[in-house]
Amino acid sequence: MSLLEKLEAAQRSQDVLKALGVNAIGATIDVAGSATEGEIAGNRVVLAGTNNYLGLTFDQACVDAAVAAVRSHGTGTTGSRLANGTYACHAALEDELNAFLGARSSIVFTTGYVANVGTISTLAGPGDVIVLDADSHASIYEGAKLSGAEVYRFRHNDPDDLAKRLRRLGERASRTLVIVEGLYSMLGDVSPLKKICEVKDRYGAYLLLDDAHSFGTMGANGRGLAEAQGCEDEVDFITGTFSKSLGSVGGYCASRKHDINPLRAQIRAYMFTASSTPSVIASTRAALQLIGRRPELRTRLWQNAKRVHSALGSLGFTLGADFSPVIATIMDSPQQAASAWQMLLDAGVYVNLVVPPGAPKNLSILRCSLSAAHTPDQINQIISAYALVADQLMDRPKAVAGGSI
Ligand code: PMP
Repeated sequence: MSLLEKLEAAQRSQDVLKALGVNAIGATIDVAGSATEGEIAGNRVVLAGTNNYLGLTFDQACVDAAVAAVRSHGTGTTGSRLANGTYACHAALEDELNAFLGARSSIVFTTGYVANVGTISTLAGPGDVIVLDADSHASIYEGAKLSGAEVYRFRHNDPDDLAKRLRRLGERASRTLVIVEGLYSMLGDVSPLKKICEVKDRYGAYLLLDDAHSFGTMGANGRGLAEAQGCEDEVDFITGTFSKSLGSVGGYCASRKHDINPLRAQIRAYMFTASSTPSVIASTRAALQLIGRRPELRTRLWQNAKRVHSALGSLGFTLGADFSPVIATIMDSPQQAASAWQMLLDAGVYVNLVVPPGAPKNLSILRCSLSAAHTPDQINQIISAYALVADQLMDRPKAVAGGSI
C-alpha cells in the first residue's frame, strides 16, 4: 500500500459511519453559548457529551481571570517550559496543585495527552516493564510504546490478573510501572484502586494513576479517586488534565511520594513543545480554587448523574456501569447506535456516539456525560429524548432498574 492509499482506506472506514446516515465524527459545535447549551447545524442542543463535569467553562471568575491574563501577559508564551515558556503563573499553578493534592512536586504540561506520553515514556525505559489496564487511554498506550519498556496488559479492573502478571515478573516487579485510570471515560466504571495499590505494594511495583475523569468529580474535596478510596499515599504518580473538571486545556503529573522535578530536563514532551498560554493557566488556577471551595458542584453533578442513570435504566437501556458522571447506554449494533444518536440530536440533545473500534469490548455505545451546570429542565430534556429512542428503536421489555454489563 502506498503512503497515500492509506488515506483512502481511512476515508472508506469513515464512510461506513456516513452510510449509517450520521455525521457523528467531528460534529461541529457552531456556538457554545454556555457550559451546557450550544448550536449544532442550526439547532439549539443541550450538551450532554462533553467532559465539562463542573460546568466551569463559563464561570465568571474563570473567564475574568483568563481575560485579565491575556491583557497583561499576551496571547502566548512562544516557548517551551525549559526555554522561555515558564512564566510565574506556570510555577504558581504547580505550587497550587501541590497544595491541593498534598503533593511533593507537580509538573504542568500543555495537554493531558502530552503529560501521559511524556511522563510514562520517561519514567520507564528499556529493561523496565509496564503493566497497564487493558482499557487504558490512547495516550497511556502511546507513552508505553515510546518508552521502550516491555509492555503487558492486565484484564480491565481485575487486581487478581494484575497480581498474576506481577508474580510472573519475579524480581523484575521492582522495575515495573503499573498504570490504571480512575473513572473510565467510555463506560463510566471506576478502578478498584485500593486493591490495585495493595497488589502493587505486595510485589514492590510502582503505580501511575491517570485521574483525568475523577479529578474534581470524586473525593470529598475533589482530589479524585485516590481520595475517594482512601489510598492517596499509596499512589506513586498521578497524571491528569485541565480539559475536564477544570474547563480549560493542559495537563499535569504530581507525586506525593517522589520528587519528580528532575524529570523536567528529561521529558521531551516538556522540553520541546510550547507551554500553555497565560490565559489558559489563569482560568485553570481560578477553577482549581473553585473545586476546593464549592463542594456543592460535585453534589449537583452526582445528583444529575443519579437521576439520568436511574431514568435510562427504567427505560430499559443496558447501562455501562453503576451511576457516575459518565452514563453509557449499550446499543445492539453500530447501526442502532447511529440512528439513536441522530434521534437524540434531532430532539435537541448532543451525546457521543462510539462505535467499534472506539469503545471497549467493541461495543456500540451512546456516551452521555453530565455536568453540575445541567438544570433540572435540561435533565428532563435529556431523559425525554432517550425515552423517544427507547420507544422507537428498542423492542425489549421495559425494566424497572438499569441492568449493567
Ligand atoms: N487521559 C484520559 C483518561 C483521557 O480521557 C484524556 C482525554 N480524553 C486524556 C488523558 C488526555 O487529556 P487532554 O484532553 O488534556 O489531552
